[in-house]
Amino acid sequence: MPEIEQVAPGLLRLPLQWLDAINVYVLGDVLVDSGNRWAAGKLLRGLEGQSIVAHAVTHAHFDHQGATHAVCQHLGIPLFCGDGERAALESGDLSRVLPPSRPLLAGISRVLGGPAHPVERTLREGDEVGGFTVIETPGHTPGHLAFWREGDGALVLGDVLFHRNPVTMRLTLQEPFRMATVDPSRNRESARKLAALRPSVICFGHGPPLRDGELFARFVSSLRRD
Ligand SMILES: [Zn+2]
Repeated sequence: MPEIEQVAPGLLRLPLQWLDAINVYVLGDVLVDSGNRWAAGKLLRGLEGQSIVAHAVTHAHFDHQGATHAVCQHLGIPLFCGDGERAALESGDLSRVLPPSRPLLAGISRVLGGPAHPVERTLREGDEVGGFTVIETPGHTPGHLAFWREGDGALVLGDVLFHRNPVTMRLTLQEPFRMATVDPSRNRESARKLAALRPSVICFGHGPPLRDGELFARFVSSLRRD
């Protein structure tokens, strides 16, 4: 397991792959995201010694939900998600939160995604999780969520934006892959909603934390409006 990083007090980043191609986070005592199915052992080892009372996912793609069932079962903790992700998580059919007619991605999701797991609670805008506030950020998937802490400007934004291309491994701010994004223009609206919060440290599903809020704001304002 690559080294666990304390991004801020009460905010840990656990990289699950080489460099920071896939990250999960611990917000207070809540695990956010779980990597792919084959990351379960590594993730559970990384969580040893941590007090984890619940698990939330930003969205139900295979690289964020893959070890969710294993972690919830092993730790005996409940699963939380956005309303639009519930059916995918509870059925294990992750193609429900993919754009239609993507057989290759749907096939990869079946191999790398995790099995179905019941959702105990649907999170909504303004709910509190691990000391963070839930922000609804639909677009990449219908029920995508971000987590925001106003006190220190810490933001965990899942896949609203990438800070590393997880295929080429290039370090870059970019929109998530279009082929895996249900509604790209709505995702841009979500990015603008997050930039309006003026975060000071931004944590991504893919890539290292960004501690340059100005650069984040400039990138988001450069995104085309439809
Ligand atoms: Zn992702």
